[in-house]
Amino acid sequence: MDFEYYEILEINRNADNETIKKAYRKLALKYHPDRNQGDKEAEEKFKQINEAYQVLSDASKREIYDRYGKAGLDRQGFSHFSEQNYEDIMGDLGSIFESVFGSGFGFGGGGKRRKGNEKYPSDLESEITLEFDEAIFGCKKEVNFSYKSPCKKCNGSGSEDKIKTECPECGGKGQIFYRQGFMTFSQTCPKCRGNGQVIKNLCKKCGGKGWEEIKESVTVDIPEGIDNDNRIRVAKKGNVMQSGERGDLYIFINVKDDKRFVRDGQNIYMEVPVFFTQAILGESITIPTLRGKKELKLPVGAHDKQQFVFKNEGARNLQTKHLGNFIVQIAIKYPKELNDEQERLLKKLQESFNIESTIHEEEGVLDKIKNWFG
Ligand SMILES: [Zn+2]
Ligand SMILES: [Zn+2]
Repeated sequence: MDFEYYEILEINRNADNETIKKAYRKLALKYHPDRNQGDKEAEEKFKQINEAYQVLSDASKREIYDRYGKAGLDRQGFSHFSEQNYEDIMGDLGSIFESVFGSGFGFGGGGKRRKGNEKYPSDLESEITLEFDEAIFGCKKEVNFSYKSPCKKCNGSGSEDKIKTECPECGGKGQIFYRQGFMTFSQTCPKCRGNGQVIKNLCKKCGGKGWEEIKESVTVDIPEGIDNDNRIRVAKKGNVMQSGERGDLYIFINVKDDKRFVRDGQNIYMEVPVFFTQAILGESITIPTLRGKKELKLPVGAHDKQQFVFKNEGARNLQTKHLGNFIVQIAIKYPKELNDEQERLLKKLQESFNIESTIHEEEGVLDKIKNWFG
């Protein structure tokens, strides 16, 4: 468990603050648990890096450490990260990360971070399902959700009468100790969260949880062009914390499929059946697009699966506000059966191309057909 702070940050003893910060930034990114899931060694290294940084980035702590080592810090009552509960560390780290990386870096929960002994995160998540058109054109939607708020009867304490008793799990110490080999480790007691005391009589209203669930609904403006997996943030509609502050609500979007249109980002695809004579003749056909009907003039001899692009007729990009394309793919359809008149006409048509009704394996016939496809 013993390690040297300067070695951990891979810097020398006279490094200045900027160097320390840089070294920390590099190593914290490398060993961050989000990137090393389940890797115990990386987790341990990450703890050490953070402990080292917390000491070396603080002028007075660094001075004590330089002079007296860790023992000196212990005498000052400075607790080592590596002896703390992992979740607590991640909570404490929030402020370090914010000062080094700037806020909103998006590491390990960000806004979901729990402070101290909060019982739940301040931000809330919900989801809604939209019709295809609602997502394409935007809409207003009522979203029902329920948020947590401190129980009014017990003021969030979870206690009926404010009487507390010694925690049976840790015997009032607030820490649980366990041995591994010849070393003893300790962690914050999960039952009392380090308080050493637990509630004697649970609040009858909330059953000791300290919070209640409250239903609410909010009408949300869904912007034009929203898509699956986008999310909308509604400020101050999350959980109410003990301090009275309220977190944010994040609404995740699901969009239903459409029978006719297939969406891929901003582009919309549609398959249109075209009768073979229309394709051969190069006729104009009417296409239903997102924003009304459009004429599509087929080229003479249009082929199966040929695609035609209508520029700026697709879905809107939320950021750039640009419209995507609407892409029509034709599927050529042939008649399943012919009546006598149709058969006569088609044979006549075929003859007009100098194609005989039965293909003999004569020389030249294939060349003829090749010419026909020309
Ligand atoms: Zn209560
Ligand atoms: Zn306890």
